[in-house]
Amino acid sequence: VFCEVTVTALDAPDFSGAAVAIEDRSRDEETELMRRDFVANVSHELRTPLTALMGFIETLRGPARNDAAARDRFLDIMEREAGRMNRLIADLLSLSRVEQDERRRPAQGIELAGLLRGVVATLAPAAAAAEVRLDLLGAEGQVPLPGDADQLVQVFHNLIENAVKYGGTGGVVTVTLEHLEHEPVLRGPAWSVSVADRGEGIDPQHLPRLTERFYRVDTHRSREQGGTGLGLAIVKHIINRHRGRLRIESHRGEGSRFTVLLPQKIGRI
Ligand code: ADP
Repeated sequence: VFCEVTVTALDAPDFSGAAVAIEDRSRDEETELMRRDFVANVSHELRTPLTALMGFIETLRGPARNDAAARDRFLDIMEREAGRMNRLIADLLSLSRVEQDERRRPAQGIELAGLLRGVVATLAPAAAAAEVRLDLLGAEGQVPLPGDADQLVQVFHNLIENAVKYGGTGGVVTVTLEHLEHEPVLRGPAWSVSVADRGEGIDPQHLPRLTERFYRVDTHRSREQGGTGLGLAIVKHIINRHRGRLRIESHRGEGSRFTVLLPQKIGRI
């Protein structure tokens, strides 16, 4: 591990002290490796649907040219693959935006209870189609908080959609809003939103890696469900921007609970 430490004396009228800059070269190398890994992953994720599309174009030009039934079937698959590319690009843009925003304090305020009611209403048809009962508890009143509305909608949309997609086999997804007088990790009053499902759960070794870009427990299943593997990475950056925390608990066979803790006040960034 290479480490460089620079100590600079600061002599401003209202401040006297020292600034310490620690440059960790091994960290730079790690960032470069992660960047390369990311580019390789993106290329692979884009190439998979593109290869399928090119294959079907060829088939439609050749063997299936005069087969109307096959043509319809292939066009459906092509539409699905194009949709997959579209979602991936939308999520990549989202990820890059939230990464850029992470160091900027959200300027607006939100009303968390209404925001949750909105997200649950939007996802109600998807839950009903999957035969999942989607309950929202504790969101009757008004909860004004500092925050970015669009980004927090994205957080809860992703978490509830995941709970329906992957945990929906349990038949019930429960979203609970709660006030905490003193949240020990955030060291102050906070709001907690938990999204709990009663699905198959996630094996413990996966939990610390779930918010990594493109990390999936079951890649095939995620693809089948139209997932990009970027949802929880986006969620993590948005929560960081709000100086909150994401807690993931899961038990095999019992289900999973994703809890977002948001501080009542966002300190200096
Ligand atoms: P994806 O687009 O694949 O859904 P996410 O980043 O949202 O990507 O989630 C990453 C992975 O975490 C998913 O592929 C899935 O394996 C796992 N996962 C997320 N939420 C749940 C859940 N509620 N129950 C079980 N597994 C989950």
